[in-house]
Amino acid sequence: MTHQKPAGLPDRIRHFIDGEFVDSVGGETFDVLDPVTNENYIQAAAGQQADVDRAVAAAKRAFQEGPWPKLLPRERSRVLHKIADIVESRDAQLAELESFDSGLPITQAKGQARRAAENFRFFADLIVAQHDDTFKVPGRQINYVNRKPIGVAGLITPWNTPFMLESWKLGPALATGNTVVLKPAEFTPLSASLWAEIFREAGVPDGVFNLVNGLGEEAGDALVKHPDVPLISFTGESSTGSLIFGNAAPFLKGLSMELGGKSPAVVFADADLEAALDATVFGVFSLNGERCTAGSRILVQRDIYDEFVERYAERAKNVVVGLPSDPATEVGALVHPEHYDKVMSYVEIGKGEARLVAGGGRPEGFPTGNYVAPTVFADVSPDARIFQEEIFGPVVAITPFDTDEEALELANNTKYGLAAYIWTSNLKRAHNFSQSVDAGMVWLNSNNVRDLRTPFGGVKASGLGHEGGYRSIDFYTDQQAVHITLNEAHSPKFGVVAP
Ligand code: NAD
Repeated sequence: MTHQKPAGLPDRIRHFIDGEFVDSVGGETFDVLDPVTNENYIQAAAGQQADVDRAVAAAKRAFQEGPWPKLLPRERSRVLHKIADIVESRDAQLAELESFDSGLPITQAKGQARRAAENFRFFADLIVAQHDDTFKVPGRQINYVNRKPIGVAGLITPWNTPFMLESWKLGPALATGNTVVLKPAEFTPLSASLWAEIFREAGVPDGVFNLVNGLGEEAGDALVKHPDVPLISFTGESSTGSLIFGNAAPFLKGLSMELGGKSPAVVFADADLEAALDATVFGVFSLNGERCTAGSRILVQRDIYDEFVERYAERAKNVVVGLPSDPATEVGALVHPEHYDKVMSYVEIGKGEARLVAGGGRPEGFPTGNYVAPTVFADVSPDARIFQEEIFGPVVAITPFDTDEEALELANNTKYGLAAYIWTSNLKRAHNFSQSVDAGMVWLNSNNVRDLRTPFGGVKASGLGHEGGYRSIDFYTDQQAVHITLNEAHSPKFGVVAP
């Protein structure tokens, strides 16, 4: 197989504002690199304050004067289902562009395109089933919740599975009647511009969806600090999240923060070892290891530790590294040379901290591009940097433990708390451990299989607020309480002059 540019690439990537593709007001652009060659393959418009101002003004106008927020839920739902239909019908093309831009293996990119469609379908269904509370105080009052969209939602997304993660925010924000400005990650802007065509075809009115490309410190920052954007939904690194928190504070914005992780996969001696191996290998090497919920710390009970490490290393050595476009590829190229350098620096740090049992550098036969061999470190001590810090690549740390208490202490011994995976056949232990571990989401004897109705989010440095199911609806709406007196209003009489 040879590496080729996909057909149908645009001549450049532009913003999409008020129903039109536009360049930056001042003409600024940035380079977008192909992760296999690290050559600049396209230019993208680099949004500045003026571009964000235009996009927010269009979104505000569409919110205040346009039909979208006032449509019946069923009408918005129909449009969302149409969006899902179009995404499904183009999954091959979407996946091809996404894989080319991000370096994700093509088979995994296809799965992500289908998940993007499912996100739209899910919120299309949820919004028509949405009901709100009404409370009766017999003979006195009826009080009810009047749920309203909030306004212009600012959506800021990362470069790992960009199209799918954008859908995770666009689906509920639009379903609830808001208008949006999306600022996708600068490493991977290609697939975001496909939304514009898809939304137009599905009948989303002009100004409801706006897209501003650009760097985080410029376009992202301008969105966070824009006074007419009351909501920011952010997914990205914990350090960026905390910066955005501070920048949004003077405006008292609604914030949803999905941040980094260093999730433990805990394998007890009584686990189904084969199933645990399948899941833990997949859990850190799928999506090139560029996965927020990656089980990147594997804690293994000492009775099975040596066997586990040996079999795990064997599997890691056999993971197929290859061109992102090749259907046989299991690990492709990392997104960008800057990220490649970061991951490689952790591989070098790991060599001084622990025992290298697989990988440890470039895979053979890949002299160029952002390729990292699936890398496994064993005997990793809990104070090692590769145990504590998010690497976000195909690198895993394995650590032994003896007792349940020690496993829990190790599992909770990082600043993060996104996901945890537990492998055991003991029911009591499974539940007790799950309930004690510091993680927003736990999978028992399972890899990361999402149920869109459940809360998604992390604790500690992994995030604030949960989206998923009706929690997303709550984030993107105001719940106004309306109180009606059914009888005479009994107010204490103030200011009545005594006779
Ligand atoms: P990042 O924080 O560098 O960037 C994320 C987005 O924020 C980008 O669009 C970027 O341009 C923008 N940004 C950067 N600085 C900004 C600023 N000052 N103001 C406004 N916007 C700014 O993250 P990344 O490297 O793109 O993504 C990887 C990270 O995302 C990892 O830490 C990963 O764990 C995390 N992530 C978390 C989840 C989750 O659901 N918890 C999901 C996916 C990824």
